[in-house]
Amino acid sequence: MKPSLSSVEEALSEIKSLIEKHHSFVLLEHQKPDGDCVGSGLALVQVLQSLGKQALLVSQDPHPAVYDFLPGSEFHTRAQYIDPEDFRAEVAVFIDCTDPERAGKGLDLARNSIWVNIDHHISNTGFGDVSLVLPDAAATGEIIYKLLIAAGVPITKEIATCLYVAIATDTGGFRYQNTTQETFEIAGALTGYGANPWEIAELIFETRTVSSVLLLGKALNTLKLSRGGKLATVSVTRDMMAQAGASPDETEGIIGYPRSISGVEVSLLFREMEDGSGFHVSFRSRSKVDVSKIAVKLGGGGHPRAAGALVKGTLEEASQKVLAILDELDIWTDS
Ligand code: 5GP
Ligand code: MN
Repeated sequence: MKPSLSSVEEALSEIKSLIEKHHSFVLLEHQKPDGDCVGSGLALVQVLQSLGKQALLVSQDPHPAVYDFLPGSEFHTRAQYIDPEDFRAEVAVFIDCTDPERAGKGLDLARNSIWVNIDHHISNTGFGDVSLVLPDAAATGEIIYKLLIAAGVPITKEIATCLYVAIATDTGGFRYQNTTQETFEIAGALTGYGANPWEIAELIFETRTVSSVLLLGKALNTLKLSRGGKLATVSVTRDMMAQAGASPDETEGIIGYPRSISGVEVSLLFREMEDGSGFHVSFRSRSKVDVSKIAVKLGGGGHPRAAGALVKGTLEEASQKVLAILDELDIWTDS
């Protein structure tokens, strides 16, 4: 459901007053953070620090190396380096998380805090003491931008760069269906505050590690087309990652290739979990299928065109579970 204007304004002013009233903040990212999560988190943690607050950005999993150039990483740490017994923040801000569990080990640090939920996933559960969920926003970075404007916080070049990265990555470089007039307006404003579109694009879209390119090659070798050419599947096992010398976050971007095949409506990427217990399944759709609904049925979440879920079992078992749900759709037979 679309939030009403008044409820958005109410949430913005509640968050603004929480920032004014409280001193200590923990910002929680989701597991396997992406560019939107990293950029939004780094922007907000720098804002809070500049306001004289005690603020820490925490993720269970490391930031993908491609975002190392972003400012603010001195305020970021991994959840496993903090003892929850010795930690307390008055306010916990969940960033880009559909539900609290998405924060993984970070959730332990938020047990006694006021919860703020800032997200743009249609499948967000609406959790938290204050919830600012805008499904029409292309990225959580857009919402953080609105918050900074509403709070009258100055936007530095550093903060603009982080927010620009958040928006540029979640829109696939301003190409995906979530890109709106407002997306360009916000990106334009961020450019005015000092974000450099070409420098950023060069670093995040035109620069790859050798290991990620090797992994892409291995993944593409597993390509299978089915359901009359409308479904394309690729997989990445732990073995393949080891052979390529790649980390799990280097699967980023692979799923765009199967979706780009002419005639394909849905693409799937199965990535084996580090502990071998199952697979993370990424879903992408071209224009018809709302894959967030499929991911929710599997206990995951996401957006209509991009979603994900964790599925236990071997590759065979995981793909059977996913296909059983996909086969309930009526798109495979029509022309
Ligand atoms: P990706 O396929 O790139 O990992 O994720 C696509 C979208 O689905 C992102 O917005 C991401 O936050 C969401 N997503 C991916 N995996 C999961 C998951 O296991 N649970 C939930 N709730 N959302 C997920
Ligand atoms: Mn996002």
